[in-house]
Amino acid sequence: MAFTRATGKHRAPSRLTRKSARVAGIAALATAGVIGGTASPALAADETRTVGDTGLTQAVAIDGTLAEQIAAQAKAQEQQAEAVAKAKAVAQAKARAKAEAERKAAARAAEAREAEARAARAAERERLTSFHLPVAGSYVTTGYRSGGSLWSSGSHSGVDFRAASGSPVVAVGAGTVVEAGWGGAYGNNIVLRMADGTYTQYGHLSSVGVSVGQSVTSGQRIGFSGSTGNSTGPHLHFEARTTAEYGSDMDPVAYLRAHGVNV
Ligand SMILES: [Zn+2]
Repeated sequence: MAFTRATGKHRAPSRLTRKSARVAGIAALATAGVIGGTASPALAADETRTVGDTGLTQAVAIDGTLAEQIAAQAKAQEQQAEAVAKAKAVAQAKARAKAEAERKAAARAAEAREAEARAARAAERERLTSFHLPVAGSYVTTGYRSGGSLWSSGSHSGVDFRAASGSPVVAVGAGTVVEAGWGGAYGNNIVLRMADGTYTQYGHLSSVGVSVGQSVTSGQRIGFSGSTGNSTGPHLHFEARTTAEYGSDMDPVAYLRAHGVNV
């Protein structure tokens, strides 16, 4: 505002001076008697020159310089604002990308954890529902109903699995202990009532690790193999029965195979 007022102040006296000068000039020419058609162009030219030299032109020149400076300053400010906005946009884009990457990583980690938990649950379900060999990795050395003087009935009521003394013996499936302890010719033996109502028996054990009434899961260790009772050497005598009693035996290999055991 000060700028505008300064211009006005500057211009007013200038114009007044010019007018006074012209009036004085014309008066002088009139006095000299030369005022007329020929004098007019000279006067017009003089006036044009006079206008060119006024403070107005100077003010405009000052205006131009300041305007340029202001424009340059404005442009600089604009460029700075643009740079700031651009930097801000870049920072925001980076932040968004980082957040997105973190979100994806978290999702992947959660997915991996869920898959792991699912696999663990499946493995546990598999362990609990599937049947197992009574001695891991073992095989049958004496088949079911094979004859021989060794058996009081004249026929083998179960199968013998190879097992060095002290091998872990596990429940072939989930069940409840109905017999645990000395079993005469069977030595230390365990009888389980299975979840499906059948029975399994484990004989000649060196030690018994469960007691009557106890629930066992499939694959749970119930004792260790040995050669107690009527036995010629360490092995596991295994029977499958329809009841808890001797004589209700069925083919143990067929029984295990029917429950998905590879034997
Ligand atoms: Zn046997």
